Amino acid sequence: NQNLKITIMGQGGSGKSTTVLKFIQNFFVEDYDPTIEDTYQKQLKVKEKVYLLDILDTVFGELDWGFRARYIKETNILVLLYSITSKSSLQFLKDEEFMDIMRGISEEKEYSIIVVGNKKDLENERQVTTKEGEEFAEEIGAYFVENSAKTDDLVSLFEKIVTFHLEV
Ligand code: GDP
Ligand code: MG
Repeated sequence: NQNLKITIMGQGGSGKSTTVLKFIQNFFVEDYDPTIEDTYQKQLKVKEKVYLLDILDTVFGELDWGFRARYIKETNILVLLYSITSKSSLQFLKDEEFMDIMRGISEEKEYSIIVVGNKKDLENERQVTTKEGEEFAEEIGAYFVENSAKTDDLVSLFEKIVTFHLEV
């Protein structure tokens, strides 16, 4: 078994916990405590090999990108999650200080970045176009996917995440 650390970051309310919990427990949580930061483990088979995923669901206060840098230093995969129904959730990730921190760490160690545009089931509330999400991902050298924690199969999301990581 190979261990893979996955860290999920993004603005509160964009669906980090829902995404993780649905993958782990296989049900959609309507109102998970927004202040809980925790790690979860699950085995996932990708291309005939079993990986032990160590998933960290983060919680952000204000102005703590610097503090969170150590999480990025320790992770194999960084998932940046926003909601397609919230322009501010994408803007949150475009923070200059955070971009600098990510670039700095990239020079020291290898890690993959995946941008997830969540809540794609809420098409009628969409505020962020697919193109805007793709362009952001391209800018930071990340893989991009839109997903719904409500209606999509979350195993397939994590398979995509791991597959991308193995390919880079
Ligand atoms: P977090 O603060 O990033 O961990 O966000 P949560 O996982 O707590 O989700 C915030 C709210 O969005 C909750 O009410 C969730 O039920 C809802 N939510 C999360 N993902 C989705 C999704 O893909 N579709 C829909 N319709 N609602 C979602
Ligand atoms: Mg949460």
